[in-house]
Amino acid sequence: MARPVSAARTGGTAFTHGPSACHALAFTFDLCPVHEGSGFDAPLVKFLIDHRVHATFFASGPWIAAHDVQMHELLAHPFFEIGTHGQAHAHLPELSAEAQLAEIRGPVATLAKRYAVRSTLFRPPYGEYNDDSVREADAAGQTIVMWSIVSGDPDPKLSAKSIEADVISRAKNGSVIIFHANGRGWHDDEVVPVVYQALVEAKHFAADTVSELRGCAGPAEIKR
Ligand SMILES: [Zn+2]
Repeated sequence: MARPVSAARTGGTAFTHGPSACHALAFTFDLCPVHEGSGFDAPLVKFLIDHRVHATFFASGPWIAAHDVQMHELLAHPFFEIGTHGQAHAHLPELSAEAQLAEIRGPVATLAKRYAVRSTLFRPPYGEYNDDSVREADAAGQTIVMWSIVSGDPDPKLSAKSIEADVISRAKNGSVIIFHANGRGWHDDEVVPVVYQALVEAKHFAADTVSELRGCAGPAEIKR
């Protein structure tokens, strides 16, 4: 689980948001390891598929190992982008540089070998990284992707209504929003449709993948 309150380490460069000239935002979904339950928010993903929402998923090593069917389901949709989220979902700053490189590279290698996917986006587990992480991610050909809006979805004390209101009020051009698609974003199958309606349908933000948002010079076209 990402800790919504953990501040991003700012030891180096990471992508946290897109250009302000770009009327677009990125829905991003972490796939952290889950020890109970399906580990997959099927209603949420169905909503994204039905609405062809461009979205980026960050898959951890244990999640990939346990979700071959769901990996194929995500990869079947060209508007979904797959990044990685650590081989063991480890706290990077607690590791040596060498161990960090292995943690970063693990699921990248799995995606390449098992699914013929070349992934270049890495979201550090818990949002924690340091200068070594930046160097090792670079050595592994990975861009560190953080976020600019925390949905707070792993917190079971937050109601769907409060998450929706908070995300909608904070969204602006270039926002990167972090949710979970592993079934531990407690209200995401309720929250994401409401946020999508308010921002994409009503306010005409484009829903971009992270790569699209990075490349967006604005003004954004509307993608449906
Ligand atoms: Zn995580």
